[in-house]
Amino acid sequence: MTEMEIALSGYCKKDIAHCTYEELYTALLHIVEEKSRQRIAPVKGRKLYYISAEFLIGKLLSNNLINLGLYDDVKACLEAHGKSMAELEEVEPEPSLGNGGLGRLAACFLDSVATLNLPGDGIGLRYHCGLFHQNFENGLQNERPDFWLGGHDWAVKTSKTYPVSLAGADYTARLYQIAVTGYEGRTNFLNLFDLDTIDESLIGDGISFDKTDIAKNLTLFLYPDDSDDAGRLLRIYQQYLMVSAGTQMILEECMERGSDLHDLYDYAAVQINDTHPSMVIPELIRLLCEKDIDFDEAVEIVTRTCAYTNHTILAEALEKWPRHYLETVVPQLMPVIEKLDMIVRSKVEDVSTAIIDANNIVHMAHMDIHFTHSTNGVAALHTEILKNSELNSFYRLYPEKFNNKTNGITFRRWLLKCNPELTAFIESLIGPGFKKDASLLEKLADFASDEKVLHQLARIKQDNKRALAQWLNHTQGVTLNPDSLFAIQSKRLHEYKRQQLNLLYLIHQYFEIKSGHLPAAPLTAIFGAKAAPAYTIAKDIIHALLTLSQVIAADPEVSKWLQIVFIENYNVTAAEKMIPACDLSEQISLASKEASGTGNMKFMLNGALTLGTMDGANVEIADAVGNGNIYIFGQSSAQVIRRYGNGSYCAREWYEIDPNIRRAVDFLTGSEMLSRGSSEHLTRLHDEFIGKDWFQTLPDFNAYVVRKNQALSDYAFNSYDWTRRALINISRAGFFSSDRTIAEYNEDIWHLGV
Ligand SMILES: *Cc1c(COP(=O)(O)O)cnc(C)c1O
Repeated sequence: MTEMEIALSGYCKKDIAHCTYEELYTALLHIVEEKSRQRIAPVKGRKLYYISAEFLIGKLLSNNLINLGLYDDVKACLEAHGKSMAELEEVEPEPSLGNGGLGRLAACFLDSVATLNLPGDGIGLRYHCGLFHQNFENGLQNERPDFWLGGHDWAVKTSKTYPVSLAGADYTARLYQIAVTGYEGRTNFLNLFDLDTIDESLIGDGISFDKTDIAKNLTLFLYPDDSDDAGRLLRIYQQYLMVSAGTQMILEECMERGSDLHDLYDYAAVQINDTHPSMVIPELIRLLCEKDIDFDEAVEIVTRTCAYTNHTILAEALEKWPRHYLETVVPQLMPVIEKLDMIVRSKVEDVSTAIIDANNIVHMAHMDIHFTHSTNGVAALHTEILKNSELNSFYRLYPEKFNNKTNGITFRRWLLKCNPELTAFIESLIGPGFKKDASLLEKLADFASDEKVLHQLARIKQDNKRALAQWLNHTQGVTLNPDSLFAIQSKRLHEYKRQQLNLLYLIHQYFEIKSGHLPAAPLTAIFGAKAAPAYTIAKDIIHALLTLSQVIAADPEVSKWLQIVFIENYNVTAAEKMIPACDLSEQISLASKEASGTGNMKFMLNGALTLGTMDGANVEIADAVGNGNIYIFGQSSAQVIRRYGNGSYCAREWYEIDPNIRRAVDFLTGSEMLSRGSSEHLTRLHDEFIGKDWFQTLPDFNAYVVRKNQALSDYAFNSYDWTRRALINISRAGFFSSDRTIAEYNEDIWHLGV
């Protein structure tokens, strides 16, 4: 028997062949936990605390096995006894503790910190339900709670608790820990706080629940709907629970390691991931003052300890709270916030940078920038836009605080785990070094004219497309044509990401095919996207895509050439199946609006070509691969910012002048669509295109059609060159490893001890 067989059958107390998948899963959970514990290493000097309302970690079993070097042993052992790794993975519920890119970034960062052997933990919340479970019924999104706890999860309950005062009442936050094992690296922790009193029976229809009973609902859901007062207050309750318990834990750890708190910054680096954890600043100051440190010194200590990451330039996403909300939930913080506001007002003339404005609105991002030592954007273009327009008045005050850290993804999940066939092939060509040193992928470029290599690369893509087709057939009962071009747009549904531009293209193609202008190759347009439950237009876009999908499927003339597939419940697990199967990666946000994007990097790494605008990290991807290896289209960010600035955009003019645009938009309310879809949704979307189109879809429409059809034709008529360009994309993806991003954070901001 192998060591793994002994361990597994030992835990299960029977022969592996006779174990259920649940039993095997539970046994592996214990084996992994034990192995992870052996890699806990002492901390010297500074330790990172990455505080974030979201950690979209995804399933952990296979990833942890890979990082601990156990995956191959386990797989072989299971197969020797007639068991499959894929079925075993099904037992684990996905912890969807994040909405999208921001939460996924936090998860990639934890992996890289541990892989680089740096001391650094995450701090967040143990939501009982992650992002809602989505399915489609009658062409509409349906939302159900996503329970992930209950025996099969990785969050270990500890005996550590911290008192937290919310709206004047006392609560007890309990610490749960998930071990984060680096690839051949150390073990760190994701610390998640929760109350013992949460009551899941509070959940009513769908994802509705009583938003007022704090003791029972505080951590019930990730991102409670904030379309009413109770929902907005609940977010503040959540944020403060995380911040207050987290702060107490940080101070306790630092003091245990010898800090007298005057030197806190020699022991801790706190990274504030977007504005949700911003209350950590006044809370730290408050607690330091309680320990007899005077206010000015506390401000200085906290400023040197904390750093802030900005994730968006969408004004509506920068959190601002009415003062009375904070007075209700965290009255103990208000005197601190007021004093910080006074400091700003006394030294800065520009009142637009004040923390509390004339309307008694508290601007969390302003507090972050004034009272941390670093503000970073998440891609080169994004940081430039922050410096030159959105946050220009702050940049002029503190040019030395602003810096860029282009996002990255962990290759262990987004290559090793999700695409084992490609990983093995790359390893056979250039050795295993790229798993830890992503820049070594460059060596792949040596094979760019090696016919055998390209042939094999194309075969792997084809295998992955078939695997996706099989999975979809199994889960949603749809049949895909693996010989068509797979173009995938998977990300949150948001108007700035412009799934509606893709929609207009698909309608356009429908007309072209009907009129005999056949495309160069059949196209499968694959979507994965959840819409925020209260986001009306986003839901209208989903409805239009689902309805169009039916119209096309029912038309044999068109369906030979065009198919639309909307994958239900897009999450990390689905992403891991979709991304390796993609030919063309749709990254078509309105230039200047997508801060970075990380989906774009995952697709590139897995050998897709990008069809995108010059936005976010697409700009750096284009730079890395060169113009011939990417399909760029559309307005530049400068043009877009100008159009917004002078208010000159008028959707109706574009609609009236361009017959193709008019034909596509009007199709939404034509008889084909109305006979299958809902007039309310389709009419609202139709009118939105003409009356508003805030994210300027129409000016980019023609350029998008041209570039996408160019891609179809290249794919159809020059498949050899397509694969060559895919190989170039993979070989240049090294820069987008989160190991590189984390090394930069550490070099410029954290300076962690090891
Ligand atoms: C990577 C990822 C995202 C972010 O995708 P973008 O295209 O960058 O918005 C969102 N959701 C999931 C599940 C992901 O894995």
